[in-house]
Amino acid sequence: ITAEPLAPTIESARKALKRYYGYDSFRPMQEDIIRNILAGKDTVVLMPTGGGKSICFQIPAVVSEGTCIVVSPLIALMKDQVEALKGNGIPAAYINSSVGQSEANDIARQAVGGQLKLLYVSPEKLLSEGFLQFLRRVNISLFAIDEAHCISSWGHDFRPEYTQLSALRRHFPGTPIMALTATADRLTKRDIITQLEMHEPRVFLSSFDRPNINLIVRPGQNRVDGVLDFIARHPGEPGIIYCLSRKQCETLCAKLTAKGLKAGHYHAGMTPLQRGKVQEAFLQDDLQVIVATIAFGMGIDKSNVRWVIHYNLPKNIEGYYQEIGRAGRDGAPATAVLFYSFADVMQMREMVTKDVPARQAQLNTAKLERMQQFAEAASCRRKILLNYFSESLGQDCNNCDICRNPPTTFDGTLIAQKALSAAARSRERVAINLLIDILRGMRNQAVLSGGYDQIKTYGAGSDLPYLDWYSYVHQMLNDGLFYIAYEEGYALKITERGQQVLKGQLTLNLKKFQPAEKAEKPTRAS
Ligand code: ADP
Ligand code: ZN
Repeated sequence: ITAEPLAPTIESARKALKRYYGYDSFRPMQEDIIRNILAGKDTVVLMPTGGGKSICFQIPAVVSEGTCIVVSPLIALMKDQVEALKGNGIPAAYINSSVGQSEANDIARQAVGGQLKLLYVSPEKLLSEGFLQFLRRVNISLFAIDEAHCISSWGHDFRPEYTQLSALRRHFPGTPIMALTATADRLTKRDIITQLEMHEPRVFLSSFDRPNINLIVRPGQNRVDGVLDFIARHPGEPGIIYCLSRKQCETLCAKLTAKGLKAGHYHAGMTPLQRGKVQEAFLQDDLQVIVATIAFGMGIDKSNVRWVIHYNLPKNIEGYYQEIGRAGRDGAPATAVLFYSFADVMQMREMVTKDVPARQAQLNTAKLERMQQFAEAASCRRKILLNYFSESLGQDCNNCDICRNPPTTFDGTLIAQKALSAAARSRERVAINLLIDILRGMRNQAVLSGGYDQIKTYGAGSDLPYLDWYSYVHQMLNDGLFYIAYEEGYALKITERGQQVLKGQLTLNLKKFQPAEKAEKPTRAS
């Protein structure tokens, strides 16, 4: 009788954690994940960045017989991880396009000889001629597929070579697979499981919730004033403003600086030296505000960022979530403000569908629509966000603008009729701003030169402030009473549904508009 090697236990894993990493205990989910993979079962790990995913496969690799093959798409990251492992006394190596042939041969020999606990490879390398053949000679403990969302064309970082990883299951049917990612939406998760041909995997989803971030959406009108107003109400607090374009970053930054704020801009068009300087000044609190494109933030570790403003609508919820996640890392209260207007959706729609294959354009559009739903929500925003990441929040969060100040709805039929009538009487030729000016009885150039002061509904809405009208017209757009004719100078056109409201055949509920301070503060004194 030959003695079976003792299966590694969670105790041996805990000892290894202490010995190699110096940590006393696993984080709650890590332990369950490690137990599952040590039992030889396929495992899916969905954990936000910083959650501690690496240890989930590194510790099983250390305590198991053989070598763990780690598939990672990021060559730079591979090198860092391998060096960190070696630094902790764990034998590891990587093979990718940056590694020369003779060195690769050396590493291969070590792997076959059982001298490596972890071998990192890029997906291209893994699937290249001869590599799978070589792997057959290695005693493989498990496959760890890092950044597993790259397998899904629904994911935000699709890499076609990842889809070929399904070959692993066929070549190594008995070896457990662990897939890890910080992207947890349902479709990505489903793609990972089916494409890797995982066997009844257990899915570990650690919470993506960041309950200390107050989620706010503001109308996209007068954004500069909105930003200045917000910063004035958060004096000295460090924050990030995300803009769409480089030009926009620079322009907004100049406006803030002109108001005496310590602001800097950051985008990919600057030299590394310039960017480094701005980043450093922000880290040192020499700059209060960074106005940046989404290029900013990767790998930035500043725990006291108190707020993040989205000056434009992000193109999907993953991006939005990642960017607001840079606020409040220290766990103290933080705020995320999104400026939103319907025009942003149309602009973004053009951007995400331009010069991409039809299928991708469709996916991008669907994702943008989810983002739009979030921005237009009339119920707890955190619920919507977490639901997107396959999590459900039992009760309302009490820390978003909707929860703090639930919108009261009222019969807005009369208001809608005024707006519809004004649009009809100006022969559906006017855009939102001009329509509101007409309704409010303004006497400016655009109103007078069009003769709009002569129409019957001129001034019919002078009892309401601009922002209220702005909100109501947008609600009407979202409700399908109007549409925007982009090719006709953004003129508002009345839909069939709009006609019905105008004729009194349909009623319309509107949400009461909430001013900015109210959106941030709870209604009840706390
Ligand atoms: P992820 O890959 O999910 O972004 P990492 O694996 O890089 O996260 O881990 C994030 C940080 O948390 C690292 O500094 C890591 O050393 C630390 N960490 C992970 N697990 C533990 C633990 N059990 N105890 C203490 N620190 C941990
Ligand atoms: Zn809420």
